[in-house]
Amino acid sequence: MALLEAHGLNKAFGGLTATDNVDLMVEPGTVHALIGPNGAGKSTLVNLLSGRIPPDAGRILLQGHDISHEPAHRRVQLGIAYTFQITSIFPNMTLEANGELAAMVRHNDPASTEHAVAKALDAVGLLDRRAQLAGDLAYGHQRLLEIALGIVQQPSLLILDEPTQGLGDAEVRWFIDLLGQLRGDTTLLLIEHNMDVVMAVADTITVLQFGRVIATGNPDAIQRNAAVQAAYLGG
Ligand code: ADP
Ligand code: MG
Repeated sequence: MALLEAHGLNKAFGGLTATDNVDLMVEPGTVHALIGPNGAGKSTLVNLLSGRIPPDAGRILLQGHDISHEPAHRRVQLGIAYTFQITSIFPNMTLEANGELAAMVRHNDPASTEHAVAKALDAVGLLDRRAQLAGDLAYGHQRLLEIALGIVQQPSLLILDEPTQGLGDAEVRWFIDLLGQLRGDTTLLLIEHNMDVVMAVADTITVLQFGRVIATGNPDAIQRNAAVQAAYLGG
């Protein structure tokens, strides 16, 4: 069974169709990349999946259960964690306190919270900075912290919207390693512009253009796909 299924998701903003009858199947334990030109509807799609915005039509299933009408906070409790394209950390709190806040959705006793926070900060290489204020971190480290805040929720599905945006080459390599470590434990749905990252980490790629899915497949198949090549060459 797919971990997450979307069927016929439609969303229009005014006259503009942002997602057009989108179907998506995310298999458990995989890294699933969502790619496509700017404005293709990638962020809208993950906003629909996480419940931040309601669809005009369509259904979303998590482990076979219809979550289409569950509010965003309930979907978090059900195991969908989502890091935003725009930074969502609290700059005046320490890394550890940010982690504790994020962990509250899943853990309620202090010992397991502390353990989960330490493990998540360690995974992104920020454990030794846990007492620093999040706002004092360099930009790239803030992006890694966001990922830690997703991991700390121990989600069954972690959605990352352009996690490598603004990262330097070394941080991007760190990120690729990190996804390698997370693979299997966590299913990842990743919006990513950097094709080197996509090709290095994705098991499955779904390509959106003008709100529609134009291709789904493994990296080899996607690279050879004529419609995908046309979409990228055409801008
Ligand atoms: P992507 O993430 O692939 O770049 P988006 O999902 O952000 O694309 O946007 C898809 C289309 O929907 C774009 O044309 C964008 O301008 C439009 N759009 C997205 N969110 C909104 C919104 N809240 N209000 C109006 N238009 C929106
Ligand atoms: Mg986007």
